[in-house]
Amino acid sequence: MKCPYCKHPDSRVVDSRVSGEGFTIRRRRECPNCQVRFTTYEQVAETTVMVVKKDKSREPFDRGKIRAGIVTACFKRPISPEQIDSLIADVEADVLGQGDAEIASPAIGELVMEKLKTLDQVAYVRFASVYREFQDVSDFDAEIRPMLSAQQAAE
Ligand SMILES: [Zn+2]
Repeated sequence: MKCPYCKHPDSRVVDSRVSGEGFTIRRRRECPNCQVRFTTYEQVAETTVMVVKKDKSREPFDRGKIRAGIVTACFKRPISPEQIDSLIADVEADVLGQGDAEIASPAIGELVMEKLKTLDQVAYVRFASVYREFQDVSDFDAEIRPMLSAQQAAE
């Protein structure tokens, strides 16, 4: 979203909250150019997005269901309940904001993983390991190895 002050074409989302029973998303944004912070309210059309599951059955999108998996992944990690709420709000905003009537359940998992990855890498790997139903240790290793080398490079 464009910065209303300096008109820089992009801004960074620093916080997202769902209000108004899930149909209004309040976002705090920061302009990377002039560093000013501003708030936007995004209104989502009141349609229910249906989640298409692996067995092709459908059910309405339910943020409570994704919360359970995220809370488990974040167990004993330095992540506040507010950060979890914000992450769920982001996922919900993406799901509702895509404008489609349906979303495949793996696409929701990918959204959660994408956001967890930037929040906490341990929580991300936990979630990914469950979500992708890793078959063997080499898959798990393939996820962790790039993170470890990135960490070592940073040290
Ligand atoms: Zn600006």
